[in-house]
Amino acid sequence: MSTLIRNGLVLLVDGAGWKTEKKDIRIEGNRIARVGEDLPAEGCTVIDATDRLVIPGLINAHTHAYMTMHRNYADDLAFFDWLDKVQQVEDGMTEEDIYWATLLAIIEMIRSGTTCFVDMTIKSAKEKTGPLSAAAGAVADSGFRAVISRGLAGVSDSEESLMKFGQVVHEMELFKGESRLQFLHGPHAPYSCMADYLQKLTQSCKDRGIGQTIHLSESLAEMDGIAKEHGTTPIQYVDSQGVFDVPCIVAHAVFATEEDIRIMAEKHVSVAINPKSNMKLGNGFAPAKAFLDAGINVCLGTDGCGSNNSLNMFQEMNAAALAYKGANRQARCIGAADVLKMATLNGAKAIGREGELGEIREGALADLVLLRLNEPQFIPANNLVSGLVYSAKGSEVDTVLVDGRVLLRDGKLTTIDENRVYGEIRKITARLGMAG
Ligand SMILES: [Zn+2]
Repeated sequence: MSTLIRNGLVLLVDGAGWKTEKKDIRIEGNRIARVGEDLPAEGCTVIDATDRLVIPGLINAHTHAYMTMHRNYADDLAFFDWLDKVQQVEDGMTEEDIYWATLLAIIEMIRSGTTCFVDMTIKSAKEKTGPLSAAAGAVADSGFRAVISRGLAGVSDSEESLMKFGQVVHEMELFKGESRLQFLHGPHAPYSCMADYLQKLTQSCKDRGIGQTIHLSESLAEMDGIAKEHGTTPIQYVDSQGVFDVPCIVAHAVFATEEDIRIMAEKHVSVAINPKSNMKLGNGFAPAKAFLDAGINVCLGTDGCGSNNSLNMFQEMNAAALAYKGANRQARCIGAADVLKMATLNGAKAIGREGELGEIREGALADLVLLRLNEPQFIPANNLVSGLVYSAKGSEVDTVLVDGRVLLRDGKLTTIDENRVYGEIRKITARLGMAG
């Protein structure tokens, strides 16, 4: 299968930074074979990209796709009150619910230019045995790309934890042949996982050659709780349990101290910042500039719809560029080019796909997004990197390819029956008694 994306303005990156050039892109199978001028169209399906900006698909480095179910549901609550309300709904969710909610998330992501997400799927729902498969199934069926973990909590040897752990390992095996899916372990947080469970999951990562992702230092209540229980910060506590001895994506790190930052840099931890979620839950602002100065790989996540309430990475890039300037009272704090890098190159690095995702180059996977340039937010086109971060909405996205396959063409989804998904979600929220 060959595809030629012809005559687009292509966002490229090199040592000097981002640049846009008129180029054709030839795709063979699931990879970019050529980026050049006037490439031959023989044997190719042609996508005319005239008046389109072609960018690498955005990577959402921290979310909970199933939480689209919680959109506009538990708002304006303090952190642990919010968590309680969210978990009450989760207890009633079935695997099928998780499947439909994940598909809803994928629709929103495709329509706003995201092509890959790092997911921590449901942690509660005690009687459920296959939530990882439900999330992975939605990704496999839609042609999307994801890195999936199941949120795990508890102690290592309780019957429930053993069951969930065994199930997670079994489910990872089920999807072993699917190249668009990767897996991580997902210890939920230091306040919900006991030390022996953190150690067990880390050992399992080593055995399986995978990484893990964990929420850390997200709220002041968490900081106080861990200080009382362990006499240290959440980041130093999990480091003492070996969590950073495998590739790790830390979500939030809002209250990271200088010593925490030093440790995360030394251990090559990636940090997924989630500015909108942190602001909405009243948690504040991560020291993102200090992370960058320390050489930490900073990537960008939306968090789940329970605390955002959107998965739109254009909104998130905009929030990131503005929030840290405001918090630091420094306009030069973090620029548009830095934020765009977080949403592309750094996300790819965090999931171990550097050079394959997050940039348009020969040999990379063909995860591409075409945006209409004839929209007021891109006119005049003085600086399109600024345009992507400061004025784009995501609604300019009209064509999306993942792994060389077209998932959105001229605004129409090709692999998902959108109305069916919306209908299923309405039925589920009615059954769970959520609709207001
Ligand atoms: Zn989260």
